[in-house]
Order: sequence, then C-alpha cells, then structure tokens
Amino acid sequence: HYLETIARMEPVLNSYISINSEDALAQAHALDSHIAKEGTASLPPLAGIPIAIKDNICTRGLRTTAGSQILRDFLPKTDATAIARLRQAGAIIIGKTNMDEFGMGSSTENSSYKPTRNPCDPERVPGGSSGGSAAAVAAHECAAALGSDTGGSIRQPAHFCGVVGLKPTYGRVSRSGLIAYASSLDVIGPMASSVEDCALLLNAIAGQDPLDSTSSSQPVPDFTQLIKSASTFSSKPLAGKRLGLVTQTLGQGVDPEVEVAIREAARHLESLGAVVEEVPLPNSDLGLPAYYVLALSEASSNLSRYDGVRYGARVSPAGGLGEMYTHTRGQGLGPEVKRRILMGYYALSAGYYDAYYKQAQQVRTLVREEMLSALSQYDALVTPTAPSPAYKVGEKSSDPLAMYKGDLMTVNVNLSGLPAIVVPCGSASISDGSGNQKSLPIGLQIIGRAFGEVELLEIAHTYE
Ligand code: GLN
Repeated sequence: HYLETIARMEPVLNSYISINSEDALAQAHALDSHIAKEGTASLPPLAGIPIAIKDNICTRGLRTTAGSQILRDFLPKTDATAIARLRQAGAIIIGKTNMDEFGMGSSTENSSYKPTRNPCDPERVPGGSSGGSAAAVAAHECAAALGSDTGGSIRQPAHFCGVVGLKPTYGRVSRSGLIAYASSLDVIGPMASSVEDCALLLNAIAGQDPLDSTSSSQPVPDFTQLIKSASTFSSKPLAGKRLGLVTQTLGQGVDPEVEVAIREAARHLESLGAVVEEVPLPNSDLGLPAYYVLALSEASSNLSRYDGVRYGARVSPAGGLGEMYTHTRGQGLGPEVKRRILMGYYALSAGYYDAYYKQAQQVRTLVREEMLSALSQYDALVTPTAPSPAYKVGEKSSDPLAMYKGDLMTVNVNLSGLPAIVVPCGSASISDGSGNQKSLPIGLQIIGRAFGEVELLEIAHTYE
C-alpha cells in the first residue's frame, strides 16, 4: 500500500532519494508467512511498520547520500544505532528521504538531487532540512519517519507540512551512524502523524550506546506511559501545569496568521486546565547568530573527512594529491556547503577565534541558562515554530540570510540541548494570487525539560 502511494506521489513530491522497494516487500512477505504460522502474539512493537529514514542516517547496504553528490555512491557497511534498534523492533525501512545537503538548509532546496515539494501545496517548500521525511509522512508515503535536528530540521518541516516532529534531548538518542553536521547540536528524532506514534518510535531508538560517548546513561522510560493515562478522560487534563509563552517569539517579524494560531493554541491549553503566562526571554535573539557561528565551525571540521581518500566520489585529474582534493571537493560539494565551510574556517582561524567562536560559546551559555531558569518556573515553554508558514519554492533560495532568519525560534533549543515537539495547531489561509484561498498548516512548538520527554509528550498529546 505504501509503495503504491510512493509510486503515485513521487513524480510531484520527491520526498525520497532512494526507495527500498524490493527489500521492504521481501520483509513484509516474510512477516506475513511468520504470522500465518505463529500468529501475532510474539511480534515486536513495530513489526511490519514501514519507516522512512532521512538520508544522513546510515543504513547497511542501502545508499546513504546526506543529500550530497560527494556521497552519491556511499553504501554504509553498518547500520546507525537508531536503525539497528528500529530493525530490532521489527520496523521495515521503506526508503531514504530527501534533505538539504548535510542538513544545511531550511527548505530542502539545498538537496543536490532535487527539491522536495510540500504535499499541502506543491508550489511551496516542505521546510528543511528533514523536508523529505516531513513530506513523506504528510503524504502517507510511510507510516512514520526519522529526521535529524541540528537547529530545527525536524520541527520546522513538521510545522510546514502539518505533522508531529520531536527533537529529543541531546544525548537521548545515539548519534552513531548519523552523518555529522554539528556534533554538539545534532539529534535524531521521530516524525509522525500523531504524538503517540512519535513516542512509540522514541521507545525503539532511545538509550545509551557504547558507540556514542555523548549518549546519556539516563534510564529510558516508556514514553507512552502518560499518554495512555491522559486518555482516561478528565475535563482538565492539564490542571497543575504551568506553561510559559515566550514573549520574544511573538509580535514584530512574525506573520499575523502565525501569531493568531499560537495565541489560540495558548487559550486551548488554558481550557484544558494549564496556566499559561507570557515569559520574557531577553537573550533569546542572541541565539541565532551564535548558532550560525558554532554550527558552521563544527561543520567545517566535520566535513574535512570528505577528501576523496576516505569517503565517497573521487575526482582524480592528472596533477597529484592537491589537485585530487580540489576537484573532489570542488565538484562533490554544493554552493551552500562550501559557503558554510568557509565561514566555519574563518570563525575558527587564529586571530578571529576569540571574536567569533569563543564569544558564540559564551552566548550559548547565556541562552541556555535563561532557558533553564524559565523551565525551573514552568513545566514547558510554548512558541511558534517559525515566523511564517511554508513559503514558495525559490522565494528565499537566493537569499541565505533570509533563510537563516527563519530558524530564530528553533535554534535555542539545540543550543540548550533540550527536548521540543511540534504539533499542528491551526492553519493560515493564503491567497494564491489567482483568487483561490489555500490553507497552510501551522505548528505549535512545546519545549520541555532535559530528559523530560514523557511529560512533554503528555502535554502535546493532550493538546492534540
Ligand atoms: N536550518 C538550520 C541550518 O541550516 C538547521 C538545520 C538542521 O537542523 N539540520 O543550520
């Protein structure tokens, strides 16, 4: 069924870079035979569920490109830990989804393959960098998906496409086998059509891993536990919860439709029993420039491994090693990736280090402490996910700074290592220029305490 939907939708959407049809069908048939013999009693929790995987998460023997030409023929020898755990839980990997090259972008237009279209309106972008995963979930080309989030790449596409996206706490999910963008910020997380599905996926992939020294030894609870009890009806399921609506994420620079939807969502949370108060976070605007200094510095270091020797496509003209590096990187990496590597080198270079990298680290601490202090007074913070709903393909692709600004509301969560979830909360009615009104989804971002995913998922599920 899902493969048929893929065949029907892909000519328009381009959600996938690779489709794992044969292998997926073989696994499904094998499961059918198993069930025919043994019944369903002993099946693992995700048995037979087709999951789409962002193409920067390594899948054994299945091409993993990170959206880049330099990895166009890369066949990983092992599965990422998250993939091994999904397989252990019985999931079927249905394909690898499109993305901005190495996760660098907010619209999936920086994919070196083809841009993904938004299923809600194919003239618009699906967001990014996990745009392929978000589009695949929204168009029912998979049951659920994995994305990765360095500065908003799970949450912003969830908002643009009207699905649920969860960025777990840094360290909750192993990064082993995730192609690194900025290692101190990167996290793998689920994208699905409901909060409960995200919780089920997180159950499968979370937990400490000897292959990732930054993965946390915090115990892994059943992430569905409070969701289950929340559905034992109460008229005020959020009674006793205090939520902070972040002042700086509303008002100037935010589309009126977005602000209306978020204020409406806040009223709905109140009607469910929560106390919602505005909370000012005066340092929050400092996060974006700090993020771009830190993420690009880390990226410049992480991407130095693509040298034509150890990984990927090699271009070797006559002329020796230097020429080989130059041509391999010159042809294999796209323009946005090159821009970011150059900016990262600049920020890290002697003489500029104190002015950029060191200062950005200090700002990171400031932003983090402000968020943690707010979360000592509130159970969760709520904000819009991005200043606008999905924009048109091409609208921002020639203006990198305009694109970077769209990440204002998501990057502080990564700088602070906190978990956050986006749930659909309304829609914007936009005129398409020829007199027709189109409805575009808007997502509410809820930010929780470190390792507080159970409580975060409960709030999101109650809201949903
Ligand atoms: N849009 C942000 C960036 O380009 C975030 C990307 C991400 O989370 N991978 O850096």
